Amino acid sequence: MEQITLTCPACGREINVPAELESFSCVYCGAKHRMAELRAPAAPADEADRAYVEAHLLDCIRDYPDYYKEFTRKKYAAAFEAHREGTRETWEALDRWVCAQPARREALLEEFAELFVQQWEDFHLSQQKARTKHARERLAFANKLTLAWFTVPALRSLGLSVGEDFSCLLRDRFNARYPKNIFNVGTYEEIQGGFRRRGLAGLFKK
Ligand SMILES: [Zn+2]
Repeated sequence: MEQITLTCPACGREINVPAELESFSCVYCGAKHRMAELRAPAAPADEADRAYVEAHLLDCIRDYPDYYKEFTRKKYAAAFEAHREGTRETWEALDRWVCAQPARREALLEEFAELFVQQWEDFHLSQQKARTKHARERLAFANKLTLAWFTVPALRSLGLSVGEDFSCLLRDRFNARYPKNIFNVGTYEEIQGGFRRRGLAGLFKK
């Protein structure tokens, strides 16, 4: 039985797989893959993708001021869809950039989670309407709601390989940096369900 060595695009480890399998799960991380996709040569990493992500990483906040106001039973579905489509390009570029370099996957995701927190910090410091510490904290709190109710669930709903890992890394980095303003990772379905049950506080508790 011929064995071939492949790099798992999910975790970056090398795995040996019988060549005749059509699909298989990675022995390290459990991710399911189709052989045809893995044997096709990966697209080379494109610097334009990295540059795009850097330039647009914080658009999910910058372009959606006061977006927490869209978080009502009536408006949420449409507002979520608009946010998801408006930010899709950035997450797709991140996914391409990371998937083209499977061996560096974790380091790249960490790098962008750190960059997000840095851009978040710079953005809030630069806001004219938030000159005092108190005003900045209020603005950061409002934007954190956008992050938890819209950005992260939208990223997770796109079906990208980086969706789960990057959401969790972002949460970890963000919460470590802002322990008084934490968020948890939720899904669109959970949040819609929360409207029905009136139970959404779990998104912001340790
Ligand atoms: Zn794997």
